[in-house]
Amino acid sequence: MTSVIVHYKELALKGRNRPWFHQVLVRSLRTLLSDLDVVHVASVNGRIEVRFPDESQWGEVKARLARLPGIANFARAVQVPADVDAMAAVVIEGLRGKTPRPFRIRAKRADKRFPVPSPEIERRVGARVHTELGWPVNLSNPDVTVRIEVLTVDAFVIIDREQGVGGLPIGTGGKALCLLSGGIDSPVAAWRILRRGVKVQLVHFHSYPILDQTSQEKVRELADTLTRCQLRSRLYLVPFGPVQKQVVVTVPPALRVVIYRRLMVRIAQRIAERVHADALITGDVIGQVASQTIENIRAIDDAATMPILRPLVGFDKEDITLEAIRLGTYQTSIIPDQDCCSLFTPRYPATRAGIEQVRAAEALLDVEALVAQALQDTVVEERRFPPKGK
Ligand code: ATP
Ligand code: MG
Repeated sequence: MTSVIVHYKELALKGRNRPWFHQVLVRSLRTLLSDLDVVHVASVNGRIEVRFPDESQWGEVKARLARLPGIANFARAVQVPADVDAMAAVVIEGLRGKTPRPFRIRAKRADKRFPVPSPEIERRVGARVHTELGWPVNLSNPDVTVRIEVLTVDAFVIIDREQGVGGLPIGTGGKALCLLSGGIDSPVAAWRILRRGVKVQLVHFHSYPILDQTSQEKVRELADTLTRCQLRSRLYLVPFGPVQKQVVVTVPPALRVVIYRRLMVRIAQRIAERVHADALITGDVIGQVASQTIENIRAIDDAATMPILRPLVGFDKEDITLEAIRLGTYQTSIIPDQDCCSLFTPRYPATRAGIEQVRAAEALLDVEALVAQALQDTVVEERRFPPKGK
C-alpha cells in the first residue's frame, strides 16, 4: 500500500473557513483520482492522506497532484508503527544505496502523547543513519531532509517531497468567466485566477465559417489543459462573424477592435450571469499590442457592468511564456490560427480610442439585437477530468 501525504499550507491561515476549505480539497482529490485504483482519501491530523495499492500508479498520481490548486506540497510516505526503531529502519532502507549527502531528520508529533519528544526522535534516528550508512549530519544546510510525522498509532516517513502549485482549492473563491482567445496570454490569465480557488468558465469568440475552425480546436485543447487543474469546465463557443459583419458597415476601421471587444464583453457578461460568475478575465497586457493601451482598456471597461480581471496586465511576454510552458498550454497556443479580431481591422488600430468617439460609433449599431443573436447561436461544451471520472 502506498500512502501520499498532502499538505495545504495556506489553508491553515483561513481560520473558521478551514474545515470547509479542507472538505473542498478532499472532494477535489477524490474526483481527480476517481479513475485510478485509489482506495482512500481522508484527512488525518491536519493533512490529507491518499492511499493506493498499486505502486506503479505513483507517477500518474504525482503528475495529477502537482497541478491541483490548494496543495502546497505532497510526498510519498511509508507507514510504520509509531516506534523509534521502526522509523529508523525505514529511513535507512529508503536511503540505502544512494550517495551519502549532508542530511537532517525533521520529526513532528501530531499526537503529543507519543512519549519521545521530536528533537529526541531526530537525534536517535539521525545517529543510526550516520553510523549505519555514513551520511554526514548537517542541521543548518542539509541536502536531504527526511521527515517523520508521528500520529497516534502510526508514523509516516517521508523521503522525497514534491512541490504542489499552492493557491487555494477550486470552488472556494467564487466563479469567473475567462475570454479565451487561443493565444498565449489568456490561458495563463485563466490559470492565475483559477489557482486562487476561483472556478473559471471559458468563452471563445470565433469567426467560423468566414475563417477556419483552428481557433476552436485550439481552445478545446487549452480548455482540456485547464480542466486538468479544475476538473470541470464549460466552454462557450460564440459565433462572432455576424457581429463583425455589422460592425464593418458603420464603424470606422480604426475603432473596430475596441468595438469588437466591447461587444465581446457585453456577450460574455450575459453568459457570466447565466453561470453565476461575478467577473470576467482577460489576458490583456499593457502595451503588448497596439490595441492594449490604458485608453483602450478604459474604452472597453466602459461597456462592462462587472469587474474585468486582468492578472497579466503588468507582466512581460517572457514571463508569461515561461508560465505557459510550465502550464502546458504553450505548444497549443503557438499553432498558427486566424484570429477573429484581425478580421476587417486595419494593421494600425486606434491606440487611444476616446470614450465619446467609441460610444458614438457604437450607437449606430443595434447592440441588443447583435448580442441576443450571438447568444442564441452560442454552443456550450462540458469538459471534465478525468474524462470518465465519477
Ligand atoms: P492572447 O494571447 O490571450 O490571445 P493577445 O496578446 O493576442 O492575447 P489580444 O488579441 O489583444 O491579445 O486579446 C486580448 C484579450 O482579449 C485576450 O487575452 C483574451 O482574453 C481576449 N480575446 C481576444 N480575442 C478573443 C477571442 N477571439 N475570444 C475570446 N477572447 C478573446
Ligand atoms: Mg489574441
